[in-house]
Amino acid sequence: MLGREPRTPFTIKTFCPDGTPQVLMADPVFNEEGVWKPFPAFLWLVCPRLKTLVAELEQQGQVREFSQKLASDDDFKEKFLHGQNEIARLRVSMAEKIYPGELPEYIREILSTTTIAGSRDFKGVKCLHSHLAQELAFHNNPIGAEVLEKIKNCSREDCCGKYNSTRSDL
Ligand SMILES: [Zn+2]
Repeated sequence: MLGREPRTPFTIKTFCPDGTPQVLMADPVFNEEGVWKPFPAFLWLVCPRLKTLVAELEQQGQVREFSQKLASDDDFKEKFLHGQNEIARLRVSMAEKIYPGELPEYIREILSTTTIAGSRDFKGVKCLHSHLAQELAFHNNPIGAEVLEKIKNCSREDCCGKYNSTRSDL
């Protein structure tokens, strides 16, 4: 579903109604031959249906719309920042469990100051896929919640398998 071998250990965080993986959660940091690789955008949306519909929203200019909403709606911004802080704390605590006592300060810093979309600007939206992945996995991303409201979650009738077969029919 990723189209390549995963480079980091991951777990399947949520499933679509047909039983296929929907959101994957990778380790937020890994150490490859002594080199630290932080991975703040550690949630991946892999459902083909959701990926397609989110890409359509992005093409319609929704990234900019959400950026404007963050800039103009204080309540929305506060909820968003709250969710980003929760995710930041989760990443650090996961990383500390994986590498107890070893985590360098600059890695901790990256994991605690980057959004789920991999932006160092906490008001940056960047990519809707990661915000939806966070909402599906942890229910704490108001951008993801509005995206889900627009495109609806998968159902037994409308899910991944259909989108996979549509693709292979092309
Ligand atoms: Zn699906």
